[in-house]
Amino acid sequence: MIGVNLGSIDKCGHRFGPAPAAETLRAVEEVSAGLQKVAEALEATRPGNWCMIITADHGMTLVDKGITVGDMIDAATERTGGEVIASLDGGCAYFWSDDATLAALADELRAHPGVDEVIDADDVARRAELRIRHPRIPPLVAIVKESYMFIESEMFMDYTKGSHGACFASDVMVPFIVAGPSAPTAEATAAARSVTDIYGMVESVIGRR
Ligand SMILES: [Zn+2]
Repeated sequence: MIGVNLGSIDKCGHRFGPAPAAETLRAVEEVSAGLQKVAEALEATRPGNWCMIITADHGMTLVDKGITVGDMIDAATERTGGEVIASLDGGCAYFWSDDATLAALADELRAHPGVDEVIDADDVARRAELRIRHPRIPPLVAIVKESYMFIESEMFMDYTKGSHGACFASDVMVPFIVAGPSAPTAEATAAARSVTDIYGMVESVIGRR
């Protein structure tokens, strides 16, 4: 089995925005043409015995507004004297600190018009729903409203038109294309409902179950 990460569509999606941005559409067409050549090479070298699975780990959402979290962190730490470790990932931001500082920061985040949801450590039901109960998941998680993203500096928005990481359909819906003579049956493919099904699909293609 060979896995290949084709990064150009993601890069163009962040820089120029998701399709129908011309640059991103061109990247999709170029990747498609390249995959056609790979399919031809596979059929030439192992006729009737290959399968190609084309998918992605996320989608892409158009963004035009950044949320700079530095000011909110400063406001929270000024109130409590605590320290915050933050990690920003497009539509999501993660924070670690002491309980009082996290509570102050949660207030700041909830007051921002671009923040859709703030999930603290006690929100067990929401964490279960989002499957983020693992102990490595930070105690405070914030999620944006559509067209917003978390950023470190306003400058970031000069060269960013796409983002992902939140729960919008445009963020979480991914292509799933199975092609080739050894592709699993239509029923097996139709049963796939989530990216978590892909591993099982691959196993069935290579004959392990
Ligand atoms: Zn990306």
